[in-house]
Amino acid sequence: MSDPTSDPAETAVVEPGAESTYDGTDETTLLDRVQAPGGEGREILDAATREVIGRAPVHTVADLNDAIARAKAAQPGWERLGHQQRSAALELAADAVDANAEALARLLSREQGKPLNGPNARFEIGACSAWLRTAAATTLDPEVVVDDGETHAELIYRAVGVVGAIGPWNWPLMIGIWQIAPALRMGNAIVIKPSEHTPLSVLALLSVMNQVLPPDVLTGVSGDREGGARLASHPDVDKIMFTGSTATGRKIIEASAENLARLTLELGGNDAGIVLPGTDPKAIAQDLFWGAFINTGQTCAALKRLYVHDSVYDQVVSELALVAEQSPMGNGLDENNVLGPLQNPQQFDVVSRLVEDAKANGGRIVTGGAPASDLGELFYPITIVADVVDGVALVDEEQFGPALPIIRYSDVEDAIASANRLDLGLGASVWSSDRDEARKVAARIEAGTVWINSHGGVHPMIPFGGVKASGYGLEFGVEGLKAVAVPQVING
Ligand code: NAD
Repeated sequence: MSDPTSDPAETAVVEPGAESTYDGTDETTLLDRVQAPGGEGREILDAATREVIGRAPVHTVADLNDAIARAKAAQPGWERLGHQQRSAALELAADAVDANAEALARLLSREQGKPLNGPNARFEIGACSAWLRTAAATTLDPEVVVDDGETHAELIYRAVGVVGAIGPWNWPLMIGIWQIAPALRMGNAIVIKPSEHTPLSVLALLSVMNQVLPPDVLTGVSGDREGGARLASHPDVDKIMFTGSTATGRKIIEASAENLARLTLELGGNDAGIVLPGTDPKAIAQDLFWGAFINTGQTCAALKRLYVHDSVYDQVVSELALVAEQSPMGNGLDENNVLGPLQNPQQFDVVSRLVEDAKANGGRIVTGGAPASDLGELFYPITIVADVVDGVALVDEEQFGPALPIIRYSDVEDAIASANRLDLGLGASVWSSDRDEARKVAARIEAGTVWINSHGGVHPMIPFGGVKASGYGLEFGVEGLKAVAVPQVING
């Protein structure tokens, strides 16, 4: 932790209000900047076609140690720049992302699988820029905690130091930016290890941002689980921001026993949605559909089990099936498609297994229900499974894919109990034409966020985080800045 009060001018690298002069590049040039040279590294496949896109560098333990050492050395100067200059740098980074948006979106689409269109790749790059700009514009002011004439005490927030970020493969760039933007904004240096499934697009994003950032404050290391474990347990890492599964989150907590790294853990979810009686199925069908199937269901806070009142059950099921029919799936680079493949074979197997199990346990397949092999190896169609009950694996386990179980209920109390019966609590939603009634139900659901008549929407100023085994710590807005800062009391 360095002295935030020292003269910011001495290390100034960015003029506030400076204009970006960075031109966009094409996808191949971007890829060549980050991939391992001359046939080295690890093959990364296009999720839709399974062709080789490029080769990810395989960084060694020495590379990781070096990145952390350089981050540690660069951090005090970055912090000393002061809030205004760091914000200006983040604005320039957002300009650079915008200038390269199409190339980044195409690379992301190929590596992750999500289509360019719909709430997918272009949307994700737009969110990166929006989150950077919001972090740049957000301030975390000192808080006067006592000022009674005798005592004056203030809480100020300083940089933590070196932040380690570990990310998943579903929204690799957006989630990366959720970690990077506040960390840099508060004066930390950050070392990020993207998921081994989607390293190239994250490294490409970093290379674009590093056109405007000072050296070593933002570094990517490409590696697998072991690389993540080494980053999490490194003695010079002061804070870990982790987004991924609950199982890995537990390991990161164990690692923090050694280095005492502070943690933000955004873990798995199995979000419930409750449709109350009296709701108009047609009016909610589109939003319900995208709440469940955004990114082909591979979204942490997607609607993963839907409880529908008996009085509207059949209509909700048929309206959802109608939206599914109108939502084309296929190769993400095809401008018509809004749904893509599963990102990797492991996730494809999870979805296939859960759907087969649901069929064997009384589930009625309304649409989908078997792999869409005609589209490619990892395509699984939108699958709506009606008439399942709590206890069936598709309801109780996180499917993280395009298969939605719909459960019938007749007593709202039972639906609330069902929503709360699992150990996860990331998001939830209540659907109703009566907002007051919906809010009453929402207040009884154990989840970090409860949406009303929508599901999964995030906003850079609205805090986001889970409860129970979905993790702890908040991201976004002022709370998100606090999470990558250390409070210090100045008393006197
Ligand atoms: P994962 O836990 O398998 O992997 C996430 C990252 O952790 C990867 O980069 C991986 O290499 C790394 N890792 C693995 N073992 C590690 C270890 N021992 N120490 C340190 N790092 C390690 O998760 P995933 O399959 O990539 O992502 C899917 C999961 O993430 C789902 O459960 C989903 O709900 C969750 N998720 C949560 C949020 C959220 O905001 N809460 C967002 C997206 C995804």
